Amino acid sequence: MKKIIILQKKMNIFLIALLLLTLSGIPLIFFFSSPKLELQGPEEIVIDYQENYEDPGVVATYYGQDISPDVKVEGQVDNTNPGTYKIKYSVKKGLHTKEKERTIIVKDTRPKDVTAPVITLTGSENVKICPNKTYKEEGYKAIDDTDGDISNQVKVTTTKDKITYTVKDSHGNESTLTRTITYQDTTKPKITLKGSSSSKITLNSKYTDPGYTVTDNCDSNLASKVKVTNNVNPKQTGNYEITYEVTDSNGNKTKVVRKVKVYTPPQGGVIYLTFDDGPNAGTTDVILDILKEEGVKATFFVTNRGPDSLIKREYDEGHTIALHTASHSYSKVYASVDAYFNDLQIVHDRVQRITGVDSKIIRFPGGSSNTVSRNYSKGIMTTLTKEVTNRGYHYFDWNVSCEDAGGAKTKTAVYNNVIKSLSNKRINMVLMHDIKPQTRDALRDIIHYAKENKFTFATIDENTPSVHHRVNN
Ligand code: ZN
Repeated sequence: MKKIIILQKKMNIFLIALLLLTLSGIPLIFFFSSPKLELQGPEEIVIDYQENYEDPGVVATYYGQDISPDVKVEGQVDNTNPGTYKIKYSVKKGLHTKEKERTIIVKDTRPKDVTAPVITLTGSENVKICPNKTYKEEGYKAIDDTDGDISNQVKVTTTKDKITYTVKDSHGNESTLTRTITYQDTTKPKITLKGSSSSKITLNSKYTDPGYTVTDNCDSNLASKVKVTNNVNPKQTGNYEITYEVTDSNGNKTKVVRKVKVYTPPQGGVIYLTFDDGPNAGTTDVILDILKEEGVKATFFVTNRGPDSLIKREYDEGHTIALHTASHSYSKVYASVDAYFNDLQIVHDRVQRITGVDSKIIRFPGGSSNTVSRNYSKGIMTTLTKEVTNRGYHYFDWNVSCEDAGGAKTKTAVYNNVIKSLSNKRINMVLMHDIKPQTRDALRDIIHYAKENKFTFATIDENTPSVHHRVNN
């Protein structure tokens, strides 16, 4: 640094001397001489992408003196951006400026992207849709190994049966993918029958079809198009078929059949074993065992007593679950019409909760002929026997009693009371109580007697002929 200052001082002295010489008229050839500028290294330098560029520099002299530090350098090289760059060097002395230029080429040595982007589709490439529907785009993605996610650059061209997806990466590599849309419907409509697919009605009763529902993959409103062919003639015994047919808008046809049997109810020799007041652990379960072993089905008029599991078992083993009121308390159920129905509803709901069945078969505590209800409401049985029917219930009394709630204290007494009253010329509606041990113990012998005498067993349903007592209140 000191040296330079000294040099500059020398130069200044030199310039003052020149000035004095000029003023004195001496020719100043010195002022008209240029400085010298020499490039170090080649005029053109090639480097690779991202290679460091180090400028070899220049050497500038003036009258043998190195004036390189005075050289002005212009221009820059961006080694991350391939191309041609110029570096300009200039040095000025007196009136003269000397310039040199160097060319630097940054070569593009980056690995070239030759891989096309990859298009992927959400959903199938071969879509099958209903002829009456339009395809709703499920989505797509375009990923390029260099450019990354370029989904937003995908060009989508849609025709009725083809969707074309095209995308180009920044290096011009292009991809195309096609989604084909096939309009077809080969799925049949589905008809689901309400109620059972095979039902039985008694001769001369009324047949009401429970109906159906229909669904289809393409059509939404086929229910009104279902053609129902119903030839059931309740006045003629036989096996009938009701057909339900529908064709969807694409010609797919479905046919469902319901079988309906019109039969003559047994006129005699039929026994309906009916058990009231249960269930009850220790008696009902043994009764169920016997019925199972003997292959006999019965009807249970249940109350709120006993475990749910026994009602469940009665139902699961094919017996009819009927209603006998929840409390079975005369003072309670016959206090008023409302009191009766409130009590009945409780046991109805219990049965429905356990079995899912909306039972409509009932028996009045004491039967419809009871006189005990007079103590609580005058004329209530007259009202109730009509009102239960109005509300969709079917009530059943009995024409055979084993008297186990009365005088029959032994199994022999129970047995005798039943068999002496059985008749093969009518329906035998047998009243028993599954809470009574003597009934439990008499049951197998009663069944054996009935079988030996060609009786058949049946359970009560809504088509069972009524057995009604004369109302006494
Ligand atoms: Zn009872």
